[in-house]
Amino acid sequence: MSVRLQIEATRGSARTGKLITPHGEVETPVFMPVGTLGSVKGVSQDVLEELGVEILLGNTYHLFLRPGVETVRKMGGLHRFMSWDRAILTDSGGFQVFSLTDLRKVSDEGVAFRSHLDGSPHFLSPEKAMEVQIGLGADIIMAFDECTEYPADAARARASMELTVRWAGRCKNYFEEHKHEVPWARTESAELRSAGRTNASAPTRADQTQALFGIVQGGTDRELRRESADRTIDIGFPGYAIGGLSVGEPRDLTRDIVLSTLEHLPSDQPRYLMGVGTPEEIAHYAQSGIDMMDCVLPTRAARHGLLFTSEGKLSIKQARYAQDESALDPACDCRVCQRYSRAYLRHLYAANELLAQVLNTVHNLHYYMATMRTVRTWIRAGRAPATFVPRK
Ligand SMILES: [Zn+2]
Repeated sequence: MSVRLQIEATRGSARTGKLITPHGEVETPVFMPVGTLGSVKGVSQDVLEELGVEILLGNTYHLFLRPGVETVRKMGGLHRFMSWDRAILTDSGGFQVFSLTDLRKVSDEGVAFRSHLDGSPHFLSPEKAMEVQIGLGADIIMAFDECTEYPADAARARASMELTVRWAGRCKNYFEEHKHEVPWARTESAELRSAGRTNASAPTRADQTQALFGIVQGGTDRELRRESADRTIDIGFPGYAIGGLSVGEPRDLTRDIVLSTLEHLPSDQPRYLMGVGTPEEIAHYAQSGIDMMDCVLPTRAARHGLLFTSEGKLSIKQARYAQDESALDPACDCRVCQRYSRAYLRHLYAANELLAQVLNTVHNLHYYMATMRTVRTWIRAGRAPATFVPRK
């Protein structure tokens, strides 16, 4: 198995440990910054490394349209193309197809849709989503699913869940037949051959394949979620995601569905909650037994001047910060808070300077990474503070 979870400490249903991938180890529970188009907007890869990011998320739908999978494959895969030697996860493209495109037509075969960029027609099926994700070459790839909208009536939620289960089986079949086509295997084999090391006995990355995770759907119906989990586990994957949440439902309902679904997922395999959430939510879910999370919130909010601090949310655009000499978050040791004042950050934002987006994103990502470091420490120490206060 190419990706596995090594659990090192537990507290209740929460656990901390390492996700072992072909591109390094990832401390869990982990928050994965979103690098939509092979870039976390505004932040270069060396800064991501400095922030301690060990795994990034790439969006298959966006990379499929630009620059296209053939370009990425020819450049040696996404790791090499974007010069990122740590782990990457790509989503299946399903969420964006359902949220960004119009004129889409869903059939059992797949989804016909028009690009949100230029209206050009495209088709994604379970097989095509696998072909694209194998070509991109992330360490972890996701089964092609239908993200059920909210609200959905019982018949619609069941039909959607059934479709996702059928697609999961087709994804696994295609993946098992084609998993050795991952670009890093080819490029690294060629490098080893040219270096005369083809007979090296030690296993190399070229011997490893990607890991395909299944996705549990079922809308906001607990029983449907249980059935989706059971049937997806029957197909058999090295990790499982809870998808289709944070799509407009009340937060209490999100929490209820996550906790009830978690009970049906294998305890010895990675559990990934997709598209969640605020610092308080990621801390809560990590303490509930989720191992992996991703969300555009810290990066998107940063670009809109909304910053997460140990004193709560702060909107840097406000006039009250125009002459405020203090650090953005006095309790934060990120490179932004160590160097710049709120007054300067407010000026950059008001003047629409590019640097505003860069610095705000670096701080917010640091805050999220620090939040997860704190939670891992809590789990290891076997304690849970009543209120969440992220440390440096
Ligand atoms: Zn900071």
